[in-house]
Amino acid sequence: MATTQCTDRVIGGILASWRFDISGISPEMRKDYEQHFTECEKCSARQKFHRTLDGTLAVLFSLSAVFFLFALAVLTHVKPLEHVAFNIFGLDVEDTYHMLVSAGIAGLVFSLIAFALVLMATPAHAYLSGIAAERAKMLEGKLPARIKSMRTR
Ligand SMILES: [Zn+2]
Repeated sequence: MATTQCTDRVIGGILASWRFDISGISPEMRKDYEQHFTECEKCSARQKFHRTLDGTLAVLFSLSAVFFLFALAVLTHVKPLEHVAFNIFGLDVEDTYHMLVSAGIAGLVFSLIAFALVLMATPAHAYLSGIAAERAKMLEGKLPARIKSMRTR
């Protein structure tokens, strides 16, 4: 990453302080920064890296919320956990069950809060919906003509 230099260090510094996110500023002000992104290889690469990071965090936290939800669903249905708690650890079934459910709920709440924070603090939602729109357009291009004509109706 350090092989290329920023073409304008002042604009590069400003962009770095914003984590290369210019979605929050007005369109007139945005022009100069967009111009810099087209000219400057380093800033454009760093912008791409930061948006990928935001998107990855949002996806990871949403997945962890789903897994905690799955863990809670499993806890209510699986009996072998009682066997493990009784015979191997010598724990009380009720206490173990409550401990695992508490951990599951805490994990789910933490994941949802972290997911909401990522969506609020970063332009991850715009980045992810941009990717989704791009993929949808790509898929639409591959559809057979008969299905395309049905879709436009
Ligand atoms: Zn730059």
